[in-house]
Amino acid sequence: MRAGGRVSELKARLRAVREGALLYPFTTMKVGGPAELYVEADTSQKLVEAVIAARETGVPYFVMAGGSNLVIDDAGLSGLVIRYTASNLVADNLTIGCEGGLELWALVQEAANRGWAGLENSAGIPGSVGGAVFGNAGAFGHSIGDITESGIILTPANSLETVGNDYFRFRYRHSYLKESGDILLSVKLKFKPGNKEELWKKMKEILALRAEKHPPHDWPCAGSFFKNIEKADEPYGKLAAGILLDKVGAKNLRIGQAGVYFKHANIIVNHGGARFADIRRLANLMRQKVQEEFGITLEEEIRYVDGLGSRSV
Ligand SMILES: Cc1cc2nc3c(=O)[nH]c(=O)nc-3n(C[C@H](O)[C@H](O)[C@H](O)COP(=O)(O)OP(=O)(O)OC[C@H]3O[C@@H](n4cnc5c(N)ncnc54)[C@H](O)[C@@H]3O)c2cc1C
Repeated sequence: MRAGGRVSELKARLRAVREGALLYPFTTMKVGGPAELYVEADTSQKLVEAVIAARETGVPYFVMAGGSNLVIDDAGLSGLVIRYTASNLVADNLTIGCEGGLELWALVQEAANRGWAGLENSAGIPGSVGGAVFGNAGAFGHSIGDITESGIILTPANSLETVGNDYFRFRYRHSYLKESGDILLSVKLKFKPGNKEELWKKMKEILALRAEKHPPHDWPCAGSFFKNIEKADEPYGKLAAGILLDKVGAKNLRIGQAGVYFKHANIIVNHGGARFADIRRLANLMRQKVQEEFGITLEEEIRYVDGLGSRSV
């Protein structure tokens, strides 16, 4: 697949760019074909340069990080894929500032080791801090937006801006980054005083719970496939999509090498060589069954990424 835009000019501008890099190793679902162009940004400066170069040459681009919320087309992607891995961290006075490519788990541990509370419920969520802010990731009634103080973004007009919590318009699995096309370079999070031992005790309990519910680490998946349904009288204000899916027998569904995890009806696992199309068909079947039985339309929490076309995020 070939993108529009001035690809050779972009290649000349980004010296570290690779052609045809396979994307599946960079995802937890282990699905994803070659990127026409691929570059890693291990500093925020490199991220800015890559995004601006893609914009100025008219080449579609896609920014990813931990790849834990993505299902990427096995036919590959045209355009430029930028993987953000910059991970600097500065901590002071109950505040941690870090780059978006930092692993969320590294941040969770850093805060807990300092006895700073606020992110302990996110223990065990894979992916990066930037990806977490993008989708307002969280668990057990808490989300990263609850403690986000500010961020530095690159706007579609190529300006760098510092934005406060309001900008993000956080709600359940949503931030304004999903609408704006802004790229998050770094973020500042504000914690509360806590107790290191108690935080670790809680985190270990959460990790044990997750180990029970989720597939083992070597089973490729993207976590919960569908969003829960917002419902005020349910625990944490959400009706678990997994409960509805379980009631319609989703745990027995499988298409090709894509199957629903036998212990958790809202997780699709890749049994080895699952195709992008199989995963989408399976997800559509799951949604259809819930729609028919309960009249509720499930919405993907994961993001499908196929042929970049003219859309750039
Ligand atoms: C086993 C498992 C368990 C999970 N459990 C949970 C859970 O309990 N709660 C939960 O909320 N999620 C959970 N997830 C989903 C996933 O871990 C989160 O959504 C995570 O925050 C995604 O981060 P990432 O770096 O992997 O993002 P990616 O998958 O790389 O990207 C996701 C989206 O974020 C965008 N993005 C990434 N970085 C940036 C940036 N710097 N600027 C702008 N956009 C950016 C990408 O363009 C993409 O659209 C789970 C996933 C797995 C595999």
